[in-house]
Amino acid sequence: METWDKNLCSPSVVRELLAKYHLAPKKGFGQNFLINSRIPQEIAESSVPEEAWNGSCAQPLYALEIGPGLGAMTRHLSALYDRVAAVEIDRGLIPLLEETLADCTNVQVINEDFMKLDVPGFLEQQFGGGAVHVCANLPYYITTPILMKLLEAQKPSQPPRIQSVTILVQTEVADRLCAPAGSVAYGAITAAVRLAGTAKKLFSVSAGNFLPQPKVASSVVQVQLYPNGIRDVIDGLPSDDATLDALIERAKELISLGFGQRRKTLVNALASAYTREAVTAALEKLNLRADIRGEKLSAEQFVALACQLT
Ligand code: SAM
Repeated sequence: METWDKNLCSPSVVRELLAKYHLAPKKGFGQNFLINSRIPQEIAESSVPEEAWNGSCAQPLYALEIGPGLGAMTRHLSALYDRVAAVEIDRGLIPLLEETLADCTNVQVINEDFMKLDVPGFLEQQFGGGAVHVCANLPYYITTPILMKLLEAQKPSQPPRIQSVTILVQTEVADRLCAPAGSVAYGAITAAVRLAGTAKKLFSVSAGNFLPQPKVASSVVQVQLYPNGIRDVIDGLPSDDATLDALIERAKELISLGFGQRRKTLVNALASAYTREAVTAALEKLNLRADIRGEKLSAEQFVALACQLT
Protein backbone atom coordinates (compact mmCIF):
# COMPACT_ATOMS: atom_id res chain seq x y z
CA MET A 1 0.00 0.00 0.00
CA GLU A 2 1.38 3.40 -1.00
CA THR A 3 1.64 6.16 1.57
CA TRP A 4 0.41 9.48 0.23
CA ASP A 5 3.19 12.02 0.80
CA LYS A 6 2.15 15.05 -1.27
CA ASN A 7 0.47 18.17 0.11
CA LEU A 8 -3.17 17.87 -0.97
CA CYS A 9 -3.60 21.58 -0.40
CA SER A 10 -0.81 22.67 -2.72
CA PRO A 11 -2.46 24.39 -5.73
CA SER A 12 -0.10 22.56 -8.12
CA VAL A 13 -0.97 19.16 -6.56
CA VAL A 14 -4.70 19.98 -6.74
CA ARG A 15 -4.37 20.91 -10.44
CA GLU A 16 -2.18 17.88 -11.16
CA LEU A 17 -4.65 15.48 -9.49
CA LEU A 18 -7.69 16.99 -11.18
CA ALA A 19 -5.94 16.77 -14.57
CA LYS A 20 -4.86 13.17 -13.94
CA TYR A 21 -8.51 12.15 -13.38
CA HIS A 22 -9.84 14.46 -16.17
CA LEU A 23 -11.74 16.61 -13.69
CA ALA A 24 -12.34 20.31 -13.15
CA PRO A 25 -13.96 21.93 -10.06
CA LYS A 26 -17.74 21.57 -10.48
CA LYS A 27 -19.69 24.70 -9.61
CA GLY A 28 -22.91 22.68 -9.40
CA PHE A 29 -21.46 20.61 -6.53
CA GLY A 30 -20.04 23.69 -4.76
CA GLN A 31 -16.47 22.50 -5.27
CA ASN A 32 -14.07 25.02 -3.73
CA PHE A 33 -11.05 23.05 -2.57
CA LEU A 34 -8.91 24.22 0.36
CA ILE A 35 -5.37 25.19 -0.69
CA ASN A 36 -3.93 26.09 2.73
CA SER A 37 -3.07 22.91 4.63
CA ARG A 38 -3.35 24.65 8.02
CA ILE A 39 -7.12 25.12 7.56
CA PRO A 40 -8.32 21.48 7.15
CA GLN A 41 -5.96 20.52 9.97
CA GLU A 42 -7.43 23.19 12.30
CA ILE A 43 -11.02 22.30 11.38
CA ALA A 44 -10.40 18.59 11.97
CA GLU A 45 -8.59 19.24 15.26
CA SER A 46 -11.28 21.59 16.55
CA SER A 47 -13.91 18.89 15.88
CA VAL A 48 -12.28 16.50 18.34
CA PRO A 49 -13.98 16.65 21.76
CA GLU A 50 -11.97 17.97 24.68
CA GLU A 51 -12.11 14.69 26.61
CA ALA A 52 -10.29 12.99 23.73
CA TRP A 53 -7.40 15.47 24.00
CA ASN A 54 -7.05 14.99 27.76
CA GLY A 55 -7.32 11.21 27.49
CA SER A 56 -10.54 10.86 29.50
CA CYS A 57 -12.63 9.60 26.57
CA ALA A 58 -13.34 5.89 26.97
CA GLN A 59 -15.46 5.53 23.81
CA PRO A 60 -14.14 5.18 20.25
CA LEU A 61 -14.22 8.41 18.23
CA TYR A 62 -16.22 8.47 14.99
CA ALA A 63 -16.28 11.18 12.31
CA LEU A 64 -18.66 11.81 9.45
CA GLU A 65 -17.36 14.05 6.67
CA ILE A 66 -19.69 15.43 4.01
CA GLY A 67 -17.89 16.23 0.74
CA PRO A 68 -14.28 15.02 1.17
CA GLY A 69 -13.29 16.51 -2.21
CA LEU A 70 -9.67 15.48 -2.75
CA GLY A 71 -9.34 14.12 0.79
CA ALA A 72 -7.30 16.92 2.43
CA MET A 73 -9.41 17.09 5.60
CA THR A 74 -10.22 13.39 5.48
CA ARG A 75 -6.55 12.54 6.03
CA HIS A 76 -6.48 14.64 9.22
CA LEU A 77 -9.74 13.07 10.41
CA SER A 78 -8.25 9.63 9.73
CA ALA A 79 -5.33 10.45 12.05
CA LEU A 80 -7.56 11.85 14.80
CA TYR A 81 -10.55 9.46 14.80
CA ASP A 82 -10.97 5.70 15.14
CA ARG A 83 -13.21 5.54 12.10
CA VAL A 84 -14.28 8.01 9.40
CA ALA A 85 -17.15 7.83 6.91
CA ALA A 86 -16.83 10.35 4.05
CA VAL A 87 -19.87 10.92 1.81
CA GLU A 88 -19.02 12.35 -1.61
CA ILE A 89 -21.64 13.02 -4.32
CA ASP A 90 -19.20 13.37 -7.23
CA ARG A 91 -18.59 9.96 -8.79
CA GLY A 92 -15.57 11.38 -10.65
CA LEU A 93 -13.75 12.00 -7.36
CA ILE A 94 -14.03 8.40 -6.11
CA PRO A 95 -10.99 6.94 -7.96
CA LEU A 96 -9.01 10.04 -7.00
CA LEU A 97 -9.96 9.53 -3.31
CA GLU A 98 -8.97 5.85 -3.60
CA GLU A 99 -5.49 7.10 -4.47
CA THR A 100 -5.16 9.94 -1.94
CA LEU A 101 -6.67 7.90 0.95
CA ALA A 102 -5.15 4.51 0.05
CA ASP A 103 -3.17 4.35 3.30
CA CYS A 104 -6.08 5.56 5.50
CA THR A 105 -7.48 2.16 6.35
CA ASN A 106 -10.01 3.54 8.86
CA VAL A 107 -11.74 5.68 6.20
CA GLN A 108 -14.74 4.54 4.19
CA VAL A 109 -15.69 6.71 1.21
CA ILE A 110 -19.34 6.47 0.19
CA ASN A 111 -20.44 7.77 -3.21
CA GLU A 112 -23.84 9.23 -2.30
CA ASP A 113 -25.82 12.45 -2.25
CA PHE A 114 -25.89 13.24 1.46
CA MET A 115 -29.38 14.74 1.05
CA LYS A 116 -30.71 11.34 -0.03
CA LEU A 117 -29.33 9.42 2.95
CA ASP A 118 -31.41 8.10 5.81
CA VAL A 119 -29.05 9.59 8.41
CA PRO A 120 -29.97 7.50 11.50
CA GLY A 121 -29.81 4.25 9.46
CA PHE A 122 -26.54 5.34 7.84
CA LEU A 123 -24.91 6.15 11.19
CA GLU A 124 -26.06 2.83 12.61
CA GLN A 125 -24.62 0.97 9.63
CA GLN A 126 -21.29 2.84 9.68
CA PHE A 127 -20.64 3.21 13.40
CA GLY A 128 -23.07 0.98 15.32
CA GLY A 129 -24.31 2.75 18.42
CA GLY A 130 -21.36 5.13 18.96
CA ALA A 131 -21.46 8.92 19.06
CA VAL A 132 -20.41 10.76 15.93
CA HIS A 133 -18.76 14.12 15.18
CA VAL A 134 -19.55 15.77 11.84
CA CYS A 135 -16.77 17.73 10.20
CA ALA A 136 -16.99 19.33 6.76
CA ASN A 137 -16.14 22.10 4.36
CA LEU A 138 -19.72 22.29 3.15
CA PRO A 139 -20.82 23.12 -0.38
CA TYR A 140 -22.37 26.59 -0.04
CA TYR A 141 -25.37 25.87 -2.27
CA ILE A 142 -26.77 23.42 0.24
CA THR A 143 -25.39 24.39 3.69
CA THR A 144 -28.68 25.00 5.48
CA PRO A 145 -30.49 21.88 4.15
CA ILE A 146 -27.51 19.72 5.19
CA LEU A 147 -27.41 21.22 8.67
CA MET A 148 -31.19 20.82 9.06
CA LYS A 149 -30.97 17.20 7.91
CA LEU A 150 -28.29 16.50 10.51
CA LEU A 151 -30.37 18.08 13.26
CA GLU A 152 -33.60 16.40 12.12
CA ALA A 153 -31.89 13.03 12.61
CA GLN A 154 -31.86 13.65 16.38
CA LYS A 155 -34.73 13.07 18.77
CA PRO A 156 -35.05 16.11 21.07
CA SER A 157 -35.85 13.85 24.04
CA GLN A 158 -32.71 11.71 23.63
CA PRO A 159 -28.94 12.10 23.86
CA PRO A 160 -27.87 12.92 20.27
CA ARG A 161 -26.18 10.40 17.97
CA ILE A 162 -24.31 13.34 16.47
CA GLN A 163 -22.51 15.10 19.32
CA SER A 164 -21.04 18.01 17.37
CA VAL A 165 -21.05 19.58 13.92
CA THR A 166 -17.95 21.55 12.88
CA ILE A 167 -18.40 23.15 9.47
CA LEU A 168 -16.81 25.67 7.16
CA VAL A 169 -19.62 27.83 5.78
CA GLN A 170 -20.23 31.31 4.38
CA THR A 171 -19.54 33.87 7.11
CA GLU A 172 -23.09 35.17 6.65
CA VAL A 173 -24.44 31.72 7.58
CA ALA A 174 -22.03 31.41 10.53
CA ASP A 175 -23.20 34.81 11.82
CA ARG A 176 -26.82 33.76 11.40
CA LEU A 177 -26.28 30.53 13.36
CA CYS A 178 -24.74 32.45 16.27
CA ALA A 179 -27.07 35.49 16.23
CA PRO A 180 -29.00 36.52 19.37
CA ALA A 181 -32.82 36.38 19.20
CA GLY A 182 -34.31 39.59 17.82
CA SER A 183 -31.14 40.67 15.96
CA VAL A 184 -31.11 41.28 12.20
CA ALA A 185 -29.15 38.08 11.50
CA TYR A 186 -31.47 35.91 13.66
CA GLY A 187 -33.52 33.55 11.50
CA ALA A 188 -35.47 30.30 11.40
CA ILE A 189 -32.24 28.30 11.17
CA THR A 190 -30.86 30.08 14.28
CA ALA A 191 -33.91 29.16 16.35
CA ALA A 192 -34.05 25.60 14.94
CA VAL A 193 -30.35 25.02 15.73
CA ARG A 194 -30.85 26.37 19.24
CA LEU A 195 -33.45 23.65 19.89
CA ALA A 196 -30.65 21.13 19.34
CA GLY A 197 -27.49 22.77 20.64
CA THR A 198 -25.27 25.83 20.97
CA ALA A 199 -23.46 27.39 18.01
CA LYS A 200 -20.10 29.12 18.22
CA LYS A 201 -17.98 30.78 15.53
CA LEU A 202 -14.43 29.45 15.75
CA PHE A 203 -12.39 31.31 13.10
CA SER A 204 -12.57 33.03 9.71
CA VAL A 205 -11.16 31.74 6.43
CA SER A 206 -10.60 34.26 3.63
CA ALA A 207 -11.51 33.52 0.01
CA GLY A 208 -7.83 33.23 -1.01
CA ASN A 209 -7.62 29.86 0.80
CA PHE A 210 -9.80 28.11 -1.82
CA LEU A 211 -9.40 26.97 -5.40
CA PRO A 212 -11.40 28.28 -7.16
CA GLN A 213 -11.90 31.34 -4.95
CA PRO A 214 -15.50 31.85 -3.78
CA LYS A 215 -16.96 35.37 -3.97
CA VAL A 216 -17.71 35.42 -0.24
CA ALA A 217 -15.79 35.11 3.03
CA SER A 218 -16.09 31.91 5.07
CA SER A 219 -15.98 30.94 8.73
CA VAL A 220 -15.81 27.78 10.77
CA VAL A 221 -18.76 27.33 13.08
CA GLN A 222 -19.33 24.58 15.62
CA VAL A 223 -22.64 23.33 16.99
CA GLN A 224 -22.34 21.33 20.20
CA LEU A 225 -25.52 19.32 20.64
CA TYR A 226 -27.07 19.19 24.11
CA PRO A 227 -25.58 16.00 25.63
CA ASN A 228 -28.93 14.81 27.04
CA GLY A 229 -31.29 16.45 24.58
CA ILE A 230 -33.46 19.52 25.04
CA ARG A 231 -34.30 18.80 28.70
CA ASP A 232 -30.72 20.03 29.40
CA VAL A 233 -31.73 23.59 28.61
CA ILE A 234 -35.48 23.99 29.13
CA ASP A 235 -37.14 23.21 32.46
CA GLY A 236 -40.64 21.85 32.94
CA LEU A 237 -40.89 19.90 29.68
CA PRO A 238 -43.11 16.78 29.43
CA SER A 239 -41.52 13.73 31.04
CA ASP A 240 -42.93 11.41 28.37
CA ASP A 241 -40.47 11.23 25.44
CA ALA A 242 -43.04 10.90 22.64
CA THR A 243 -45.02 13.89 23.99
CA LEU A 244 -41.84 15.95 24.20
CA ASP A 245 -40.74 15.04 20.66
CA ALA A 246 -44.18 15.99 19.31
CA LEU A 247 -44.03 19.30 21.22
CA ILE A 248 -40.64 20.20 19.71
CA GLU A 249 -41.95 19.26 16.26
CA ARG A 250 -44.76 21.76 16.82
CA ALA A 251 -42.26 24.40 17.98
CA LYS A 252 -40.31 23.86 14.73
CA GLU A 253 -43.50 24.33 12.69
CA LEU A 254 -44.17 27.57 14.56
CA ILE A 255 -40.60 28.74 13.84
CA SER A 256 -41.01 27.91 10.17
CA LEU A 257 -44.37 29.73 9.93
CA GLY A 258 -43.21 32.63 12.12
CA PHE A 259 -40.14 33.32 9.99
CA GLY A 260 -41.82 32.42 6.69
CA GLN A 261 -43.48 35.83 6.70
CA ARG A 262 -40.97 37.79 8.71
CA ARG A 263 -42.63 41.20 8.26
CA LYS A 264 -45.97 39.96 9.62
CA THR A 265 -46.97 39.81 13.26
CA LEU A 266 -46.94 36.30 14.69
CA VAL A 267 -50.75 36.31 14.90
CA ASN A 268 -50.94 36.89 11.12
CA ALA A 269 -48.02 34.61 10.24
CA LEU A 270 -49.65 31.68 12.08
CA ALA A 271 -53.13 32.35 10.66
CA SER A 272 -52.98 29.37 8.28
CA ALA A 273 -52.64 26.97 11.22
CA TYR A 274 -54.15 28.67 14.32
CA THR A 275 -57.02 31.06 14.95
CA ARG A 276 -56.27 34.67 15.84
CA GLU A 277 -57.94 34.18 19.21
CA ALA A 278 -55.85 31.12 20.09
CA VAL A 279 -52.54 32.84 19.26
CA THR A 280 -53.51 36.08 21.01
CA ALA A 281 -54.51 34.17 24.17
CA ALA A 282 -51.27 32.12 24.07
CA LEU A 283 -49.13 35.26 23.68
CA GLU A 284 -50.96 36.91 26.56
CA LYS A 285 -50.28 33.90 28.80
CA LEU A 286 -46.60 34.18 27.97
CA ASN A 287 -46.62 37.94 28.71
CA LEU A 288 -45.78 38.73 25.08
CA ARG A 289 -47.28 41.62 23.09
CA ALA A 290 -50.16 40.69 20.79
CA ASP A 291 -48.40 42.41 17.83
CA ILE A 292 -45.03 40.72 18.36
CA ARG A 293 -43.18 39.32 15.31
CA GLY A 294 -41.72 35.83 15.21
CA GLU A 295 -38.18 37.15 14.83
CA LYS A 296 -38.36 38.55 18.38
CA LEU A 297 -39.01 35.16 20.01
CA SER A 298 -36.21 33.00 21.36
CA ALA A 299 -36.21 29.25 20.69
CA GLU A 300 -37.38 28.71 24.29
CA GLN A 301 -40.30 31.09 23.72
CA PHE A 302 -41.29 29.16 20.58
CA VAL A 303 -41.37 26.01 22.71
CA ALA A 304 -43.46 27.79 25.36
CA LEU A 305 -45.84 28.93 22.59
CA ALA A 306 -46.06 25.35 21.29
CA CYS A 307 -47.05 24.25 24.82
CA GLN A 308 -49.97 26.71 24.70
CA LEU A 309 -51.07 25.93 21.12
CA THR A 310 -51.90 22.25 21.49
N1 SAM B 1 -13.49 18.82 1.64
C1 SAM B 1 -12.91 19.37 0.43
C2 SAM B 1 -12.02 20.54 0.78
O1 SAM B 1 -12.18 21.07 1.87
O2 SAM B 1 -11.17 20.92 -0.03
C3 SAM B 1 -13.98 19.79 -0.59
C4 SAM B 1 -14.99 20.79 -0.08
S1 SAM B 1 -16.04 21.42 -1.37
C5 SAM B 1 -16.48 22.99 -0.69
C6 SAM B 1 -17.59 20.55 -1.15
C7 SAM B 1 -17.54 19.07 -1.43
O3 SAM B 1 -18.85 18.53 -1.19
C8 SAM B 1 -17.19 18.69 -2.85
O4 SAM B 1 -16.31 17.60 -2.86
C9 SAM B 1 -18.54 18.28 -3.47
O5 SAM B 1 -18.43 17.39 -4.56
C10 SAM B 1 -19.23 17.67 -2.27
N2 SAM B 1 -20.71 17.68 -2.31
C11 SAM B 1 -21.52 18.62 -2.85
N3 SAM B 1 -22.81 18.31 -2.67
C12 SAM B 1 -22.83 17.14 -1.98
C13 SAM B 1 -23.88 16.29 -1.51
N4 SAM B 1 -25.17 16.60 -1.70
N5 SAM B 1 -23.54 15.14 -0.86
C14 SAM B 1 -22.23 14.82 -0.67
N6 SAM B 1 -21.20 15.58 -1.11
C15 SAM B 1 -21.48 16.73 -1.74
